[in-house]
Amino acid sequence: MTETAAAPAQRAHRSAKRYIYSFGGGRAEGDATMRDALGGKGAGLAEMTNAGLPVPPGFTITTEACNDYFAAGEKLPAGLWEDVLEAVREVERVTGKGFGDAANPLLVSVRSGAKFSMPGMMDTVLNLGLNEQTLHGLIDLTGNERFGWDAYRRFIQMFGRIVLGVNGHRFDEALDGAKEKRGAKQDTDLDAAAMRELVDEFRRIVREDTGGDFPTDPDEQLGLAIKAVFGSWFGKRARDYRDYNKIAHDLGTAVNVVTMVFGNMGDDSGTGVAFTRDPNTGQKVLFGEYLTNAQGEDVVAGIRTPLHISEMRQQMPGIYAQFEQIAGRLERHYRDMQDLEFTIERGTLYMLQTRSGKRTATAAVRIAADMVEEGIISEREALARIEPAHVDQLLRDQFDQRAREKATRITAGLNASPGAAVGKAVFNADRAFDMAGQGEKVILVRIETSPDDFHGMAAAQGVLTARGGATSHAAVVARQIGKPCVAGCASLVIDYGKRSARVNGLGFSEGEWISLDGTTGEVFVGALPTVEVRFEDQAELQKILEWADRARRLQIWTNADKPEEAALARRYGAQGIGLCRTEHMFREGERLEIVRDAILVAFQATRAKERRAAGEALSGEDEAAVRRFDEAMAKLEKLQTGDFEGIFEAMDGLPVVVRLIDPPLHEFLPNHAELLVEVTRMAALGTSEDDEHFASSRELLRAVEALREQNPMLGLRGCRLGLMIPDFVKMQTRAILNAAIARKRAGGDPHAEIMIPLVGHVNELAQTRRILDAEAERVVQAAGQDVDYKFGTMIEVPRGALTADEIAEHAEFFSFGTNDLTQMAFGYSRDDAEGGFLLKYIETGVLADNPFQTLDVDGVGQLVRTAVEKGRAARPNLKLGICGEHGGDPASIAFFDEVGLDYVSCSPYRVPVARLAAAQAALTGAAERDK
Ligand code: PEP
Ligand code: MG
Repeated sequence: MTETAAAPAQRAHRSAKRYIYSFGGGRAEGDATMRDALGGKGAGLAEMTNAGLPVPPGFTITTEACNDYFAAGEKLPAGLWEDVLEAVREVERVTGKGFGDAANPLLVSVRSGAKFSMPGMMDTVLNLGLNEQTLHGLIDLTGNERFGWDAYRRFIQMFGRIVLGVNGHRFDEALDGAKEKRGAKQDTDLDAAAMRELVDEFRRIVREDTGGDFPTDPDEQLGLAIKAVFGSWFGKRARDYRDYNKIAHDLGTAVNVVTMVFGNMGDDSGTGVAFTRDPNTGQKVLFGEYLTNAQGEDVVAGIRTPLHISEMRQQMPGIYAQFEQIAGRLERHYRDMQDLEFTIERGTLYMLQTRSGKRTATAAVRIAADMVEEGIISEREALARIEPAHVDQLLRDQFDQRAREKATRITAGLNASPGAAVGKAVFNADRAFDMAGQGEKVILVRIETSPDDFHGMAAAQGVLTARGGATSHAAVVARQIGKPCVAGCASLVIDYGKRSARVNGLGFSEGEWISLDGTTGEVFVGALPTVEVRFEDQAELQKILEWADRARRLQIWTNADKPEEAALARRYGAQGIGLCRTEHMFREGERLEIVRDAILVAFQATRAKERRAAGEALSGEDEAAVRRFDEAMAKLEKLQTGDFEGIFEAMDGLPVVVRLIDPPLHEFLPNHAELLVEVTRMAALGTSEDDEHFASSRELLRAVEALREQNPMLGLRGCRLGLMIPDFVKMQTRAILNAAIARKRAGGDPHAEIMIPLVGHVNELAQTRRILDAEAERVVQAAGQDVDYKFGTMIEVPRGALTADEIAEHAEFFSFGTNDLTQMAFGYSRDDAEGGFLLKYIETGVLADNPFQTLDVDGVGQLVRTAVEKGRAARPNLKLGICGEHGGDPASIAFFDEVGLDYVSCSPYRVPVARLAAAQAALTGAAERDK
């Protein structure tokens, strides 16, 4: 295969720009580098032609033409049509056939092809150029009358539906009617006469639906089809797909006009799709399906059950050998697993498409690792090939083995896309979408899926179909979006009307729970429990992540509040704890009662202590409050010390950032409205003032009311809380440092870092530090043992970011709290926005992404960048991390790498994803710098 394709010829064109690139006869004007202009398919056809592979001649109209078409109000740019006709003449010259020539007709396919593959999302028309005259030419040339009429009826059906907007069901019904009338099971059982009748019937349907005759002039057909393919770029399903996959809407689609070759010319003809490696497992074998005497749509639509590609070796050994050889060449040339489309016309093989194949997470990792072993790609390229989402998928749950053994298996189909999915059966994509929007887990069940079902598939947990193979629409799309899918459960009888499915006396109706195992292809009734997969068992993933560790600069830490979480994160490769939210420990079991007890008297006790320190005598009530508070805090201290010991032990030798209490206190108290109802009810019922429950409820209500704030997220929380009630700071300092001392005495190596939340003014930090350092000194004195700790702060208030130089004077490290920073930079409540306007904002394009998921680089990112620069200017060895949700988001990680943070901290489950994303960020960063 040529490694350097010929430069595109400068060929004459009428239009202002060059919109057309031809290929055929061993030469192409485009090449593989021109994906932007020619789309993936067009670039592939050009490259294969240049390489001397058998590609039917044709031409590609560029994506720019599509964009200019829309810019001109859906009109072809001036001169483009003349250029199209000229390109058709060239195809005629190469093929020796004539477009519209009754004696030797040239027929073409008109296919979409964007830069990024959008399988089945846009439109295609086959057999274009047929009319009564050319049809007879085709019949004469092939000597096959049935074939000719079948081709014509397919053309009318496709063109009618796609270009003329005729309701496709009408054609399906007519076809079913014809089969019924003749007792035919399959389309192939209909003879020439039946097909001829169908052609008349289809033309009548077109006339009825559109009010006009089916166009007979091939030029007119071509012009309409090109416009329809352009138009499909903005079709609903294409738009939905791009939104889901974050593909820009302004790329446009190319249009490929390619000489038709026929796989349905008899038993020496056929058509198929194949991957150069198994897209499910990654195994190095040709994987795919084909059908003899069929057109491509028959394979994809699952109308006939195709044969495994390996059977071609017996049926057509010569062709198989040629195909195998081409597949190998293409894979080596593109240095990636390829997804190939081919057609065999009367014993001659034609390649119709090559593109990088979609694959499951398992396959992606295995193929990348194998290709490094085989010397095809480097470790760095392997890292770039794996999507962070793949790593995520590999760590997804599976069904609990024992539960699955006992479960009722309804049926089994093809294991089209792996993983375990549990949800309520829904038989319609719109309903699936709506129910998922209301927070329900659903499984979309369809006889077969079409691109119109995409939104339902994306919203569902998994997809189940009764028809279609491993390359059916359901299978391809589900694999790509990482949804488990069981396809082709032939025994499943689905009744859309009754919204139910039956098989062997079992079944389920809409709304009933089912479980799909996309790895084995099994379907179960009920909701099966799932279990976590073991990271340790995934040798290839581990290998890739080790490469990632060598390539990345950022460290990956984790957010963990419990020893078990810390241990899990460490197994996943975490290099420290970047955020231990101590208040999470307050909520467990009996602890909540203790915390409440402390809170109820916290302010009274604190004020009393201040008075006592100033030499005032305390009332009996104050003394009691102080006692109650101190007792509760002592209990808490003991519990927290134990917790911290566990965490230091799990993270022995690695840094552990412990953040002092952050949320407003009312979060630990009962709900105000419920309490008010209870007290009011008891009062209305005349409950005695002496009733113990009544008295304690009233006391609690008073405390809750005293702590109530209009905007608690902007209220008494974070460092403000510690400054109002310093005992919280002192107690937590003692717990952390005594835990560290205990670990040291036990021979451990604890690395404590204490972090103060929500600092907006340097004095908040300075004062907190005074309280904390004094207490630390007391701990060291009491223990008679030194203990090291680092002192730092979160940067999560915009003012804190803007005055980071002042703050850095008092902090050894910063950790960006991007959750709060986003909330305060946008002024969106992080607790409410996602349930309200925010998703609408994203849907309508006000915002490109959810800023609570992917860092808003332009706005919030500026605050981060400023704080990094100012902080480091004031303290060059300042350590910088991030512990908001964005720490596990690949796009945000790229920014954190670029801005020069030292680490990102994310939930334990995201650690492997972050390891890969950090490596990818480092590699792209290096590539950018090299440019
Ligand atoms: C943050 O605000 O980003 C953060 C990590 O703290 P929390 O989510 O606990 O407010
Ligand atoms: Mg925060």
